[in-house]
Amino acid sequence: MDFSWTSEQLNKKQEVLNFAENELSHDFIKRDKTGEFSRSDWKKCADYGLLGLPMPKELGGGGADILETMLVMETLGYAYRDSALIFGMNAQMWSVQMPMLSHGTEKQKKTYLQPMMRGEIIAAHCMSEPESGSDAYSLRTTAEKDGASYILNGEKTYITNAPIADVFLVFATVNPKRGMWGVTGFIVEKGTPGLEISPVIEKMGLKTIPMGSIKLTNCRIPEENRLGPEGSGAQMFNGSMEWERSCILASSLGAMEYQLEQSISYAKERKQFNQPIGNFQSVSNRIADMKVRIETARMMLYKVAWLKSTGKSAVMEAAIAKLYISECYVQSSLDAVRIHGANGYISDFGIEYALRDSVGGLIYSGTSDIQRNIITRMLGL
Ligand SMILES: Cc1cc2nc3c(=O)[nH]c(=O)nc-3n(C[C@H](O)[C@H](O)[C@H](O)COP(=O)(O)OP(=O)(O)OC[C@H]3O[C@@H](n4cnc5c(N)ncnc54)[C@H](O)[C@@H]3O)c2cc1C
Repeated sequence: MDFSWTSEQLNKKQEVLNFAENELSHDFIKRDKTGEFSRSDWKKCADYGLLGLPMPKELGGGGADILETMLVMETLGYAYRDSALIFGMNAQMWSVQMPMLSHGTEKQKKTYLQPMMRGEIIAAHCMSEPESGSDAYSLRTTAEKDGASYILNGEKTYITNAPIADVFLVFATVNPKRGMWGVTGFIVEKGTPGLEISPVIEKMGLKTIPMGSIKLTNCRIPEENRLGPEGSGAQMFNGSMEWERSCILASSLGAMEYQLEQSISYAKERKQFNQPIGNFQSVSNRIADMKVRIETARMMLYKVAWLKSTGKSAVMEAAIAKLYISECYVQSSLDAVRIHGANGYISDFGIEYALRDSVGGLIYSGTSDIQRNIITRMLGL
């Protein structure tokens, strides 16, 4: 087993560090307080090729394999403080772009996928509803066939990017009696009559990427905007969740690395009882635990990358990675706050936001409980 990076991969990493340092904004703490989304950073990331990174070159993407994509996202998470914006990009990449790549028609790819990759339009993935979260396939949104159209009715909530999105991938059932086999994906454009988008839903963290709800009332969608055949939505959703679980937390790993460096320098500089606080084993043990979490989480993440790049199933490993990295990020963010004392609790010091952001990771793309259910199901229980 070879754990070393190639020189191309190391160059890419350095390039991403330079890009984040020189091109992206550095006013995150201010924007975090007001919940301000940076459209210009989103566009710069798209122009740099991040949104299209794992997409095929013939569509204008980067053609990167999953390991390179993870390395880039991990590096971005290390170098760029706006983890909410990275989360918003991930939500689009894995849960809208990926299903569109595998199930979309040529026209859908040209009209929606390629402009998304170029950062010209923003997309949202709409599965959750007020009455269906973990039990996603119990959704109530309906799509009734009417000539060459479908009429959509229902409500979607907790939707990342919704208030800024130009296009929505909406999951609805064409026949509630068919359960998960009735679930179907539809591409709904902003401005379609009958589509209402809520104002921003305030949340605990990830404040610089807006979340919202949408309501569909007799919303007429042309048949050509159905994504894949009728009833393919559950398979599409499972596929994109596996991608999302595999990749969405790579940037959190980078953020944990940055957090560790901050904590080490603080533990060396801050003196109490006439000595650096790092001399106290209670503090240094926390730092050791943070390092152990990073190294073990990284192994898990790269194993998923390896499995997926060789075409093997990674259902269980993706669930383990999602569960483990998200829980580690919360623990390490709390450790970073403890190490920094009151400074860790003060917004302008730039430590506490990670704790608020990290909690979202325990819930989105399936809660930690649901990941445990997937793991035990794969173990035959
Ligand atoms: C930051 C963030 C971003 C999100 N972005 C999107 C998005 O872009 N698009 C989208 O469609 N949704 C999105 N969601 C919604 C997310 O997918 C749901 O919140 C998640 O699936 C859980 O559903 P719920 O909140 O309704 O909780 P519930 O399903 O009601 O769960 C409540 C509690 O019960 C537990 N529970 C439920 N069922 C089981 C079970 N079978 N076994 C064990 N425990 C169980 C859960 O683990 C949880 O602790 C987002 C959520 C967050 C927090």
